[in-house]
Amino acid sequence: MRARAAVFGLLLPVVITGQSARDQIRQWREAREPQIVQEFADFLKIPNVAADTQNLRRNATEIVAMLARRGVDARLLTNGAWPPVVYGELKAPGATRTIVLYAHYDGQPVDAKEWKGGAPFTPTLRDQRGSDWVDIPFPTTGRLNPESRIFARGAGDDKAPITAILTALDALKATGQRPTINLKFFFEGEEESNSAHLEGLLQRNANLLRADAWLFCDSPVHSSRQMQVVYGVRGAMGLELTVYGPTRAMHSGHYGNWVPNPGILVAELVTSLRNADGRILIKDFYDDVVPPTPAELKAVRALPNTDAAIRQDLLIGATEGNGALLAERIMLPGLNIRGLKVGQVEGLAANAIATEAKASIDFRLVPKQTPERIRALVEAHLNATGWFVTHAAATDAERLAHPKVVRVTWGGGDEASRVQQDEPVAVALAGTLDELLGKPVLRLPTMGGSLPTHLFERTLHVPLIVFPIANHDDNQHAKDENLRIQNLWDGIDAFAAIMTRMDTKWPRVVP
Ligand SMILES: [Zn+2]
Repeated sequence: MRARAAVFGLLLPVVITGQSARDQIRQWREAREPQIVQEFADFLKIPNVAADTQNLRRNATEIVAMLARRGVDARLLTNGAWPPVVYGELKAPGATRTIVLYAHYDGQPVDAKEWKGGAPFTPTLRDQRGSDWVDIPFPTTGRLNPESRIFARGAGDDKAPITAILTALDALKATGQRPTINLKFFFEGEEESNSAHLEGLLQRNANLLRADAWLFCDSPVHSSRQMQVVYGVRGAMGLELTVYGPTRAMHSGHYGNWVPNPGILVAELVTSLRNADGRILIKDFYDDVVPPTPAELKAVRALPNTDAAIRQDLLIGATEGNGALLAERIMLPGLNIRGLKVGQVEGLAANAIATEAKASIDFRLVPKQTPERIRALVEAHLNATGWFVTHAAATDAERLAHPKVVRVTWGGGDEASRVQQDEPVAVALAGTLDELLGKPVLRLPTMGGSLPTHLFERTLHVPLIVFPIANHDDNQHAKDENLRIQNLWDGIDAFAAIMTRMDTKWPRVVP
């Protein structure tokens, strides 16, 4: 069999081999769908919220056991009480490439009474009838409806990739195929609680985790339900501003036009930072921003355009950016006003000049922008526009000495990361998925949101690509989280292809 396959590989276009391997995986899966879903359900039964460290540990030890059953050398990486990382390794004889598959087994907190059925850790299979989801029994034979969904915390975010990866290993073994790339598995247990120990753990295990690339298997597929690869994320950083007025609220009739008004001052301040079209007005802010490459622009324009539908849904009369695509706009840095606070409104409104005003801001950063540089630019802008900047509560002397005083409190910052589409791992992954799908996989240059991907790049100096499998409407982080069964099947196919085909698509570096 093996020899014949090799000969076929020489005589026929490579795509035939990929297709027949894919068909074998599908046939194997179709013959045992209830068992696959049952193993997934058993995994989802183990509660995985941050507060429940005992059950997080149970999740981790169960994953070790599931990996070991598949012949993966697996163990826990830990240094104490926090949820461990599950680490595993599967070497492919003769392979020259190594990838690490990342997913996380912890989930967001749950409020059980909010959930349909009231039991987020009792996995429930449901079909849609009209606008309702009705319980159906877990089948023990035959096929599942691919539109059925399994409801439980962690179903979409982020136990689905773990199950798909493990099942892909089963499928390969059962169909006589073997991974042709060295695989490392890294399943984290504190992603939803800010990964506080991750950087230290990566540093301590840098040698163990050495690889050509990481696939960050988290987040949902495109809203059109099509598979996508996401080459980057935006960075994020928070900023709190307090603008000072008089030391006590003053009568607006007796003192208005004379006592400075912090509401007006904060409005002037925020409109000096950004205009209504999304343009950031801080001097030199765009200096480090690298324009999109032709490949990125081409990929963005090939994405299904759902902008009009989103605009309709949100009742937005016009979008920022003069009609530019959403996917283009998120390639730029952003400045968002999270909140503004001054005085009171409606029933509590008083005819008074408030004592202070606050603005809360979040920045989204793109590659090459650093939190340090943004901090410096913003403070230079404030100085240049007449503000006295303090990082602590302003003293009486400072308030008396300066006409405009603002307290600046910076939140933590994460840098952006983005892999170029012509980097070898990007070519290999997209090529593998193109072959699997029989058409180009969607290529998203960046997601608008942020993930701690830069941490991996900074610590391990390795490219990282986000490869999601969950449905976009999986209610992740909310009540009634679910996974659409077809997304699990698609994930199994994709991971099997990645394990066996990706090395054939990996450009060889010619010395
Ligand atoms: Zn997640």
